[in-house]
Amino acid sequence: MRSVSKYFDGGDTVANYKLDMEVDDGEFVVFLGPSGCGKTTALRMIAGLEDPSDGEIYFDDDRVDGMPPADRNVAMVFQNYALYPHMTVRENIEYPLKVRGVPPEERDERVAQVAELLHIEDQMDSDPGEISGGQRQRTSLARAIVREPSVFLLDEPLSNLDAKLRLEMRSELKRIQNELGITTVYVTHNQEEAMSMGDKIVVLNDGTIRQVAEPEELYERPRTTWVAKFIGSPPMNLFEGENRGGTVHLAEGNTLPTPAESSSSTVSVGVRPEDIDVSTDAPDTDWTLPGTVKTVEPLGEYVLVNVEVGGSVVNVKVPHTDATAGDAVHLTFDPADAYLYDENGEL
Ligand code: ADP
Ligand code: MG
Repeated sequence: MRSVSKYFDGGDTVANYKLDMEVDDGEFVVFLGPSGCGKTTALRMIAGLEDPSDGEIYFDDDRVDGMPPADRNVAMVFQNYALYPHMTVRENIEYPLKVRGVPPEERDERVAQVAELLHIEDQMDSDPGEISGGQRQRTSLARAIVREPSVFLLDEPLSNLDAKLRLEMRSELKRIQNELGITTVYVTHNQEEAMSMGDKIVVLNDGTIRQVAEPEELYERPRTTWVAKFIGSPPMNLFEGENRGGTVHLAEGNTLPTPAESSSSTVSVGVRPEDIDVSTDAPDTDWTLPGTVKTVEPLGEYVLVNVEVGGSVVNVKVPHTDATAGDAVHLTFDPADAYLYDENGEL
């Protein structure tokens, strides 16, 4: 995509603004962002279901914007996968091949291949009404894949499945994409899905690209406070601070020994919940952030402690804690784990 924008309502709604990005051959790219940020619109423009208001879209060296969807050789799967109810699973999968005039023998072969790939061989003679939601979604994926499209587009395809199935389908989809080596763009608002499946994640907000990075990099180096507040569960804590000649003074009245490499005088200090320690005794450190425990949630894998520090709530993840609601506690963290964002919210 080269500087692709999409406006609706005579320009009043900016669905996408100057999207610049590339998807490599065989890559699994995820568009991640909150609801309404323009993910579906971007995908529909790649599919040809929507024309850009501005900019260019290329498949390899061929400009495709303005080209009808049928000429692009893309397959798209939506959240609400619509199967033909009066056709069996087999007939549903076979249909796109029939329409394209593929001879019966080759049709049988290709349908059998994708059925095996998606583990739905036993459901082939059932009607869509007789199979589970997960099997219906597998069938719609099979119907998309059977055409051997050059680009596979998926718009929140797992949203209608229950949590267990979603997990299962997540790794299935990744496996299938790997096996076929098919260039894929996957849209989701679910960061776990994005992190687990994406080779590369494109973070969108307000119709613009906020960061393009591999999952690990996105987690390790969120480029802006917006991305930092969006990634992680719970996301990074951000403390407002003032940078005075090499030390950061937090609004909470504490001085952090954080090396202030920023030229900005107003800064945000970001610390991940898992990088903060909470203790009921005053720890033997140069400084602490004193606060009051609001809630303690034992979540099995870890304990989530919400601590009020100077009017704002700080999320802390610890293996275990003696602290209970109402306790006065001290928070500490290694300054090396802190991120320093400038007045524009940039690293
Ligand atoms: P997402 O998929 O990230 O939830 P969308 O791409 O569906 O976001 O929508 C982005 C913005 O564009 C929203 O404000 C939405 O209301 C608007 N929008 C999308 N499609 C249309 C349309 N056909 N007409 C008018 N506005 C639209
Ligand atoms: Mg959408």
